[in-house]
Amino acid sequence: MKFVSGISCSDRNDRGLWFIFSRNKMLYKKDGDKVTVPRLLSPSELGLITTPPVYLGQADGVNCWTAEFIDTEDNTADCSIFPENTDLKNLRELYPLLGDEVFSLAGRALQLNNWNNSWQFCPSCGGPLDNSSEERAKICGKCLKPYYPVISPAIIVAVTKGDRILLARNLRHAGFKRFSILAGFVEPGESLEETVAREVDEEVNIKVKNIRYYASQSWPFPHSLMLGFTAEYDSGEIKADGIEIGEADWFSADNLPEIPPHGSISRILIDNFVKNNS
Ligand SMILES: [Zn+2]
Repeated sequence: MKFVSGISCSDRNDRGLWFIFSRNKMLYKKDGDKVTVPRLLSPSELGLITTPPVYLGQADGVNCWTAEFIDTEDNTADCSIFPENTDLKNLRELYPLLGDEVFSLAGRALQLNNWNNSWQFCPSCGGPLDNSSEERAKICGKCLKPYYPVISPAIIVAVTKGDRILLARNLRHAGFKRFSILAGFVEPGESLEETVAREVDEEVNIKVKNIRYYASQSWPFPHSLMLGFTAEYDSGEIKADGIEIGEADWFSADNLPEIPPHGSISRILIDNFVKNNS
């Protein structure tokens, strides 16, 4: 799919792809076993009332829009008013059903929809924000300050020691036995390499070297940009911080614990380690 980002639509008279959300849930169409995004002239076609839509651009020449479903007494999110072959589901759960490309587009839609709904007033002077006609930004009607969609960069790193990889169990997922590679948000003033070194040191007490960028992935829950790295062990003994990380250890490719499902950059980095070490 070829997607071209845009901020204004030159021809609204076609059936566009509509990414309609109720918080993190997205409206989808069931077509037998297939799950698709509704092609509509507007949400009113389904009898839905929404916030003013945000234009996303064109996917293979088709206009794409996003809007938030307004939950009122006449317009409830309990699905009972939706046409029979449509439903609402958390976007995370729709991932395997939508496939990589449509999920990526839906993630873009979710972030821009949330940004559009939550950024209504200027944080500096309280003036109303209007959409810029020149770029993906909002401009304060009073003090003219521009504001851009919020994106939070986070690193994720596969640390190796010879033919073993460092995997950790996160305490946020209590009861889960799943292990993954380490991750953390970038702090103001840091380079990405400094974030990698700090996070690994803070979470498991290990110093790393040969930090290298691998690939990135947008993660729309709520607005992260995951920047994937590889690094090599330099010194230290593993000691889980007990706050974020419950346990951590070195694992060989033929003896991995439960790891994240396919699709996430953590899994891509772990699969890459396995490929290089088996
Ligand atoms: Zn202002």
